Amino acid sequence: MTYDLIIVGAGPGGAMAARKAARDGLKVLILEKNKEIGTITRFCSRLLRLGSGGFSSDKPVTDIKMDRATCTIEVGPPGEHVVHMNTLPADASFAYRGELAPCFNETWMSPGGAGFDRDPNGRQIEGFVVDKEELIRGMVGDAAGAGCDIRPGTKCVGIEDTGDGVRVTVKSELGEEVLQARRAIVSDGSFSPLLDQMGFNDDRPKGIGRIKFMSYILDRCDPPFKEMRRLRCTYPSLHTGFINSGPWPPGLWEISCSAPVTNPVKLPDVLNAFLANSAFSYMFEGAKIVGKQACNMDLRPPVWEAARGNVICVGDNAAFAETAIKGAIACGYRAAEATSKALDAKDGNGFYNEYWTHAFNFFSPQYNKRSRRLPPIPTVLTDGETDTLFRWFTDQEIYGVPADILPDNRERLAADLPEIAAKFFGGAKNTGDRQAA
Ligand SMILES: Cc1cc2nc3c(=O)[nH]c(=O)nc-3n(C[C@H](O)[C@H](O)[C@H](O)COP(=O)(O)OP(=O)(O)OC[C@H]3O[C@@H](n4cnc5c(N)ncnc54)[C@H](O)[C@@H]3O)c2cc1C
Repeated sequence: MTYDLIIVGAGPGGAMAARKAARDGLKVLILEKNKEIGTITRFCSRLLRLGSGGFSSDKPVTDIKMDRATCTIEVGPPGEHVVHMNTLPADASFAYRGELAPCFNETWMSPGGAGFDRDPNGRQIEGFVVDKEELIRGMVGDAAGAGCDIRPGTKCVGIEDTGDGVRVTVKSELGEEVLQARRAIVSDGSFSPLLDQMGFNDDRPKGIGRIKFMSYILDRCDPPFKEMRRLRCTYPSLHTGFINSGPWPPGLWEISCSAPVTNPVKLPDVLNAFLANSAFSYMFEGAKIVGKQACNMDLRPPVWEAARGNVICVGDNAAFAETAIKGAIACGYRAAEATSKALDAKDGNGFYNEYWTHAFNFFSPQYNKRSRRLPPIPTVLTDGETDTLFRWFTDQEIYGVPADILPDNRERLAADLPEIAAKFFGGAKNTGDRQAA
């Protein structure tokens, strides 16, 4: 059978692409290498952030026009929620039947317990931690309901653009076979060999570093908040990166940390020390580790032209994790629209490439400059200095993310805490040890 569209990968990007394309009447097949749809093998903190804040800076970009995805969640009775994609047409809204863990804020915490919030209004929900497997299963289920064929347990090993269509080579329990379609959407996530094979990465700048991540999922934690929040624990004597922590539905808790792969630190050692022997250990007395996840991520600038010939790249494979779940969903939707246009003899690739280059902050030189200019706090301060700085932020009623609030308050900081200010602005070097979303 010749399909209109073959989609490679049933992550958030591919799932939305399949749903949109099938509902628009295309003959669609989605391939997923895992045996079950909605099996997540790459670590992800699963926070569906509601605002338009970026990876490390919340300031709006002003040097280029942005079409960055934002979403809201219409909370219904258990299992009957709707995710609205605000920057997309209404048919992009989709039902979500999983659990939701609201995060009312994000708080940077020092070893001594001083903390400052990202948002001044702690009553405003920052985002929801979702069950990503269920989110994907819901969208793929909608696609199936609209006639999309689904092949789990089927890995795509090659895509050839023949000019009048694509030949997609797959491997499954049935062996190797070649499938045909008029177009392909590739949504296979980070480190895509398919993009390499097809030459999409040839003119892409190399990464500025590779980061390793590790997380534990914990049961029986006792966080001391009435309203749940994510914590960015800043504990220089334990780790030169942030130790992140937050709710993980249903009723569990996640802790995670990261470091450049060039850093010999063993991330499990950091997490074990954080659990057993830190000022935050009281939250984890009696806690049980019920899951562990790890992954690597390249801080690599995006592919510039994500739609070429009969192929469109979506989400993490052509960008990096700033894409996030909502960004990948938006890419999937726009890629499906672009496919319909192309099949209708319109400039679908032009439509998608125009969207793509305005969809993420990392296309803004201003944003990239802003988010790289300071060293991360735990790489330059001691535990005691971190306490002092965080207490100062609280006393001054300063809210936001470090990449914004440190430079914005540089003069006040230099006047009140000159030694700490000098660590950031007095020639300290950026180690590139940046935290994930
Ligand atoms: C440490 C970390 C933390 C993160 N935390 C958050 C967060 O809190 N909130 C947030 O919104 N985002 C977060 N992200 C980002 C988010 O995980 C991704 O941006 C998002 O999942 C990208 O979706 P995608 O569909 O492009 O790719 P993926 O989610 O990676 O999905 C790709 C799919 O393709 C399949 N596949 C791969 N190769 C093939 C093949 N050859 N054939 C068939 N199938 C294939 C895979 O099995 C997978 O199902 C985080 C990322 C990292 C690294």
